[in-house]
Amino acid sequence: MNLAERDNNIIWHPYTQMKTAALPVPIVRGEGALLFTEDGKTIIDAVSSWWVNLYGHAHPHIARKVAEQLQTLEHVIFAGFTHPAAVTLAENLLKVLPEGQNRVFYSDNGSTAVEVALKMAIQYWDNTGNPKHKIVAFRDSYHGDTFGAMSVSSRSAFTAPFWSYLFDVEFIDVPVPGKEAQAVEQLQQIAQQQDIAAFIYEPLVLGTAGMVMYRPEVLDQLLSICHANNILTIADEVMTGFGRTGRTFASHYLQQKPDIVCLSKGLTGGTMALGVTTCNEQIYTAFLHDDKAKTFFHGHSYTANPVACAAGLASFDLLQQEETQQNIARITAQHAAFAQQVEQLPHVQEVRQQGTIIAIEFEAGGTSYFSSLRDKLYNFALDKDVLLRPLGNIIYIIPPYCITDQQLQQVYEVITGMHDLVAEARSAE
Ligand SMILES: *Cc1c(COP(=O)(O)O)cnc(C)c1O
Repeated sequence: MNLAERDNNIIWHPYTQMKTAALPVPIVRGEGALLFTEDGKTIIDAVSSWWVNLYGHAHPHIARKVAEQLQTLEHVIFAGFTHPAAVTLAENLLKVLPEGQNRVFYSDNGSTAVEVALKMAIQYWDNTGNPKHKIVAFRDSYHGDTFGAMSVSSRSAFTAPFWSYLFDVEFIDVPVPGKEAQAVEQLQQIAQQQDIAAFIYEPLVLGTAGMVMYRPEVLDQLLSICHANNILTIADEVMTGFGRTGRTFASHYLQQKPDIVCLSKGLTGGTMALGVTTCNEQIYTAFLHDDKAKTFFHGHSYTANPVACAAGLASFDLLQQEETQQNIARITAQHAAFAQQVEQLPHVQEVRQQGTIIAIEFEAGGTSYFSSLRDKLYNFALDKDVLLRPLGNIIYIIPPYCITDQQLQQVYEVITGMHDLVAEARSAE
C-alpha cells in the first residue's frame, strides 16, 4: 500500500466527508512556497497550508532554532515555572501589538486563544462585582471549533448539530460597504442592554466567511460604541496577524484599541501549534486579589511549550527583516494588478483585497451545478499543481510571503482558467 492508502484505512481528516473524499495528497517535503508529493509532483501552496505559513516551508532559520531548543529544554510545566523562550517571545509580541496590551497568556491554538479571551472577559465582569454574560459577534464570523468559539461564530451548517448547546450571542451584521449604518445601528441598540460583556470581531477580514472585508472607519465606530458602553473588545487576529493585511496587525489600521487580542496561525510562522491571548492592565488587575476565587483557572498541559515558543521567536526574527516587509509590499502590488484584470471578466461578482489576501467571488448560479462548483474548482487547481481551497463560489489567495513573482503568476493563471470553467458552466445553464 502507498501512503495515501494506508492513511485512508485508519485516519479521519478535518472538514472532510470521508465517504466521498479523494485520497489525500501525500506530501514528503516542503521548501519555500512549494510542497513535494511522494510521487514527485511539485505543488504551489497558495493558501499557506490553511493560512498558517508565513515564510515558507521548512524554513532553515526556524528549523535551526527549534532544533536548538529541543536539545536544551523541550518542555516544562508553566504553572510556577518559566523559561527564556516564553518570556522573550512575550516581550517581543508586546513591542508590536496594539498600544495598551501588556499581559500575555499562552495556549495551544486559535480556538483556545478565543476560549481564553471569552473566559477572561466574562470573569473580568464577575471579578469586578458587575457580572455580565452576553457576547456580541458578527453574524458571519468564525472564531474556532471548540464550544465557546463555536458559540460566538456564525450559526452555519458546520455547527447545526450543536446549536442547542451553544450559548446565546447577540449577532450584528458585518459592516461591508453599504451595510455600515445598519451594523452601527444594531450595535447601538444592543449596547443599551446592561448584560453585554464583550464584542469579539475579526478585524477588517472575516476569513472563513469568504475573505469578507470591511473598512477600518466603521470598525472604529463600532469599537467606540463598545468603549462608551463598558463593553470589552476582543480582536481575533488569529488569521489577520503578522502582516497578512499589509500591517503587522489589522488593529494597526484603527484608532480605537482592543482590550484583548487573540493570536495563533502565523505566530510560529506555521511551524508549531501555539496560541496567545493578550490583555490590557485593566483586565489583568481585576484578577489580582487575596480571594483565590478571583484567579484565572485556565491552563493546558503544553502551555507555553518551549519548542513552540522558540518557533515563535525565530518567526519574529523573520517578521522584522526588511526582506519580509518588501515581500508583503510586492505581493500586495501584484494582487492589486491582478484584481484590475479579473474585475473585468464576466461572472466575476466582486474582487476584494486587503494586503496579501485577495478574494475573487464568482456569481453564484441558482442551479444545481453550483453545489459541485467548489470541488470542481479545487480539483481544477490541484490538477495544475496549485493548492487553492475555494469557499463555495469564492476563490482566494493567501500565500507565504516568500512566494516568487513567477509562482504568483502561475496561481493567477489558474484562477483565470477557473473563470473560463465558471463561464462555461453558466452558459450551459
Ligand atoms: C483559524 C481561526 C481560528 C481558529 O484557530 P485554530 O487554530 O484552527 O483553532 C480562530 N479565529 C480565526 C479568525 C481563525 O481564522
